[in-house]
Amino acid sequence: MDVSPAPVDLPEPKRLGVLSRLAPEPMKVVLNWGRRYSLWVFNFGLACCAIEFIAASMARHDFIRLGVIPFAPGPRQADLMIVSGTVTDKMAPAVKRLYEQMPEPKYVISFGACSNCGGPYWDSYSVTKGVDQIIPVDVYVPGCPPRPEALLQGILKLQEKIARESLGERYSTPSVAQLTSDLVAPPKPGGGDA
Ligand code: SF4
Repeated sequence: MDVSPAPVDLPEPKRLGVLSRLAPEPMKVVLNWGRRYSLWVFNFGLACCAIEFIAASMARHDFIRLGVIPFAPGPRQADLMIVSGTVTDKMAPAVKRLYEQMPEPKYVISFGACSNCGGPYWDSYSVTKGVDQIIPVDVYVPGCPPRPEALLQGILKLQEKIARESLGERYSTPSVAQLTSDLVAPPKPGGGDA
């Protein structure tokens, strides 16, 4: 007997896309305003650049004044992932797994040459040549390491992008596969690559 689940016939409207398009313009402005000034950060610090991220969150640079809240308890409570440091091929599956656990809408800042393109280790056998090979990146911050002020500039760029954003366009056509995909698979017993 065939026990496979019947295909899901999704009714219109799908998800929040259509509703977001119908929202009046002032409401979109308010929603985007709230979204851009309450960015809970999940810091994926992997090497030296992470120290500059920490400096940006401390009193001298104080990115909380921009509405950025550092150190979300975990990816499920975060809006923004900042990847700072060298992404290795061994670590890349973990970065992707945690990105997938973040709720939408979610954003990524790639902070520093290593996460942008591999940096000084671009020809290493073990280094991923940019985190954008595994997850989408919204803003790239150049430098080795970038100064904390560069991160502040990157945050402002991201906030400008969010202010212009239409969630209706961003999510207008989710596929049935996306909407019915399984939960992220648990790690394999004993560790190892995913
Ligand atoms: S970009 Fe430079 S400072 Fe940043 S993690 Fe790579 S080597 Fe370190």
